[in-house]
Amino acid sequence: MSEYPQVKHTVQLIKELVSIPSPSGNTRKVIDFCEEYLSGLNLEMKRNRKGGLLITVPGKNTDQHRMLTAHVDTLGAMVKEIKSNGRLKLAMIGGFRWNSVEGEYCEIETDSGKTYTGTILMKQTSVHVYKDAGEAKRNEQNIEVRIDEITNSEEETRKLGINVGDFVSFDPRVQVTASGFIKSRHLDDKASTAILLQLIKHIHTEKIELPYTTHFLISNNEEIGYGGNANISPETVEYLAVDMGALGEGQASDEYTVSICAKDSSGPYHYGLRKHLVQLAKDHNIEYKVDIYPYYGSDASAAINAGHDIVHGLVGPGIESSHAFERTHESSLINTEKLLLAYVQSPIVNI
Ligand SMILES: [Zn+2]
Repeated sequence: MSEYPQVKHTVQLIKELVSIPSPSGNTRKVIDFCEEYLSGLNLEMKRNRKGGLLITVPGKNTDQHRMLTAHVDTLGAMVKEIKSNGRLKLAMIGGFRWNSVEGEYCEIETDSGKTYTGTILMKQTSVHVYKDAGEAKRNEQNIEVRIDEITNSEEETRKLGINVGDFVSFDPRVQVTASGFIKSRHLDDKASTAILLQLIKHIHTEKIELPYTTHFLISNNEEIGYGGNANISPETVEYLAVDMGALGEGQASDEYTVSICAKDSSGPYHYGLRKHLVQLAKDHNIEYKVDIYPYYGSDASAAINAGHDIVHGLVGPGIESSHAFERTHESSLINTEKLLLAYVQSPIVNI
């Protein structure tokens, strides 16, 4: 694995991506970054109306297309209410538990683009004041944002320009360890986004001729269910979502291999495509795990649910403690990169 120095570029790109706040619904800056990253390669790129970025690489066969997607939107929150003490109540964007953001630093972005920092806390945090600090329920009633400005009333907070509907993003706290781990929020799915951007660059710089015209969608509404369910050309036969493998007790996935999803909450992924991905992994000595994710949906299942007649699949790096204190290892990134590189050059599954 050490003879794969290019993974350092992917890790660097992940660090940059997770540092750009992009809760679902407020992703323009991170999409701008992705477009900028690929600019100069002379690729066919366009934005869809939802704000995602679509990149097309023409292939030998233009009658049958392939599509790969990764999503760049993340979990986050919105100001739900300004409390009489000047603090903020939150509404969640995406699916997570309040305990997974308790104590987290955050950024509030006003509609004029001004940003403030704060901390997400239980109102009963101080053990010197609240007897029930440990037991009190972690919910939207008790969780609040302490803003790093002098404010003690709703009026003073409003004077800062903060309003209901402002976006709140969580500090990613990204760290890369000498042992090859990447610890950060939002590895779901910015790890895969970095891998796709690198793959596009690699195909271009190495002048790899793809067998089929291939579309890459950097989607921006996956966490709320409809990121990659449109902009699928009628020629598209295969649609592969690149999104995290889910880890936990009883899961096959880990932080070192590429996860190939057999089934999630939406049902089984296309059997033929899954077997094709496994065969590619075997042929190229790529370490992989086939797994089932109990509470999970992807852009590929969203596309199927939207009525597209496609062969759909899901692969991605294994992400520990997803939607919370996430971590993966560079070997999982390497295995995912290798599988995708083999996949885009392989024949379309014979269905
Ligand atoms: Zn995801």
